[in-house]
Amino acid sequence: MMIEQVRKEFPLLTETVNGNPLIYLDNAATTQKPIMVLDAIDAYYKTYNSNVHRGVHSLSMKATEAMENTRELVRSFLNAKRTQEIIFTSGTTAAINLVAYSYGRKVLQPGDEVLLSGLEHHSNIVPWQMICEEKGATIRIIPFNEKGELVLSELKHLITDKTKIVAVNHISNSLGTINDIKTIIEKAHQVDAKVLIDGAQAVAHLPVDVQALDCDFYCFSGHKLYGPTGVGILYGKEEILDAMPPFFGGGEMISCVTFEKTTYNELPFKFEAGTPNIVGNIALGTAIQFLNSYSWDDIIMHEEKLLEYLTVELLTIDELKIYGTADHKTSVVSFLVGDTHPYDVGVLLDKLGIAVRTGQHCTEPLMDHFGIPGTVRASLSIYNNKEDVDALISGLKKTLPMLL
Ligand code: PLP
Repeated sequence: MMIEQVRKEFPLLTETVNGNPLIYLDNAATTQKPIMVLDAIDAYYKTYNSNVHRGVHSLSMKATEAMENTRELVRSFLNAKRTQEIIFTSGTTAAINLVAYSYGRKVLQPGDEVLLSGLEHHSNIVPWQMICEEKGATIRIIPFNEKGELVLSELKHLITDKTKIVAVNHISNSLGTINDIKTIIEKAHQVDAKVLIDGAQAVAHLPVDVQALDCDFYCFSGHKLYGPTGVGILYGKEEILDAMPPFFGGGEMISCVTFEKTTYNELPFKFEAGTPNIVGNIALGTAIQFLNSYSWDDIIMHEEKLLEYLTVELLTIDELKIYGTADHKTSVVSFLVGDTHPYDVGVLLDKLGIAVRTGQHCTEPLMDHFGIPGTVRASLSIYNNKEDVDALISGLKKTLPMLL
């Protein structure tokens, strides 16, 4: 894989910020978009903007076909059995809420338990807290060790007959840990609990096979996968989705409506009320085609090498501590230097055109565990190169003396 060629696909990478060439290291928050995704958005609005599924006219049929083509691309990307199992949502957050409010509300009883991990994003905590409060169920947490790895030996105490749902991330957005979700799924299935995997940070960094994993739900956001914001996917096993009640009511999701009774549309439309983000869904398909044009071996090798280089170089800086040193991790390095505040570091790096994330990264319980206010997080993607890392390191060496 020629990184210089890859970089040429991303117009934004040639921007300057505060008079300096942009160094974009905030990919875990959102990725930049390749030209083909931008062109797909432009082409939709310029040549076939139209509503989907309802029209018999040519534009509507073209838009419907393009959007349904994305559904098939996602099916194949996740290796799901059928396109009926692929639901368009507005993102990971919406997908998790859908499962909590449809599946969770249906099955949870007082005394039941929902098992999360200590590494979860707020999106995979708060919807469960809300539904557990409503249903009288309890949340339990899989702990993690100092390296940021889940302590799976605890599962024998945590997964019991009371466990109805397990919801964990595939990759931690704050620490980069790749969780052993296969083991978690196997253990949960031994007590018939259903498992939701939050794949927001995973899909751009490793291949996902929902059939091999045997997860019940898997969700991700388009914007972390070189696609647009405001779109995401919920995968669910067909028999589970079939038995779930709809979450949103409205157009598209119905089969027949009278004032006495409404019957619902079949999968996947049962969960897709209202006009979807048509252009976003179409462009998500283009983003997947972009990713499919590279081999996973090349992507993984490139990101692993760069992660190692970034880690080694960061550790040359005095008083720098990395949070998250799991044996199995990817593309994210969270760190603090001495007693500097992450925001101060982030603001000074920005003056040099370097974009990193600072703060709690929507994982407040994780930060509380480490007893820190947050971290500086540099996160990598397919288009980052050694020069980006070098710029970060020299930026840190330049700015830190002002703070320490
Ligand atoms: N889960 C994880 C692990 C994330 O990193 C994020 C976003 O940062 C989310 C969920 C929420 O994704 P979105 O805001 O796209 O719905």
